[in-house]
Amino acid sequence: MGSMIRNSYQSYHEEQLEALLMVAEHLGPQGSGVRRELGDMTAGYVSFRSEVDNFLSENFSDICNDKCYRSNLSACCSREGIITFFADVAINLLVSGPGDIAALRAVLEKENRGVKCVYLGNNGCLWRLKPVVCEMFLCDTARNKVFGRKPALMNNWTALKKKEKSFTWPDRPVLFDKIESYFRAAGFSSSLMYMHNSPGLLRVKKRATIRDA
Ligand code: SF4
Repeated sequence: MGSMIRNSYQSYHEEQLEALLMVAEHLGPQGSGVRRELGDMTAGYVSFRSEVDNFLSENFSDICNDKCYRSNLSACCSREGIITFFADVAINLLVSGPGDIAALRAVLEKENRGVKCVYLGNNGCLWRLKPVVCEMFLCDTARNKVFGRKPALMNNWTALKKKEKSFTWPDRPVLFDKIESYFRAAGFSSSLMYMHNSPGLLRVKKRATIRDA
C-alpha cells in the first residue's frame, strides 16, 4: 500500500465524502436488507475490533491519551490524509447513527486548515469504528514503554496483527475485498476501493490467484 499518508487536501476530502455518501445511500435506513446482509458479513470483524479495543484499553490507555494525540509530538492523528479503505467507511457507517454521519459529512465539506487529521474532533476520533490503519498503529514510544515493561504482551499484539490480515490482506479471500465487490456489484465505484485499484494489492491478489472476493 505504500505510504499511509496522501497529499492533496482537496481530492482527499472529495474522495472521502464521495465514499461516505455512496455507502450511506446504499445502506439505506436502519433495518434495511442491505444493512442486515452487511451486518452478518461483518460481525466477525466487529468482534475482532472489540478484541483489539480491549487489548489497547487494558495496556495502552495511560499512554495513548488525549494529551498525546493532540500534541504535535504524537505520530497518530497528527497528519492530514490518513488512508481509509472503502470497507472501513462501510463498516463504520453500519455502526454509526445519523448524528455521527452528519458530523463526518460536516468536516469533509469544509477545508481542514489544521495540521491534524480532519476526523479528529473535540472528543477524539469522529469515527465510531476508526479506520483499521489507525486502530492497528502503535507509535515507537508506546510500543517501547508497554512491550519493554511486559514483553509477553508482544505475542498478543502479534496475534492480533495476524488476525487483522485475515480480514484485510488479500492473499486469500478477505472481508475488505468482499465488501468492495459487494458495492461494485450494486454499481458503485470509489477511489478508496484499493482492493480493486491499488497496483500493489492487485499484485498480491494475482500472486495468490484471487480474482474477486
Ligand atoms: S481517522 Fe481518527 S484515529 Fe485515524 S488519524 Fe484520524 S482522528 Fe486519528
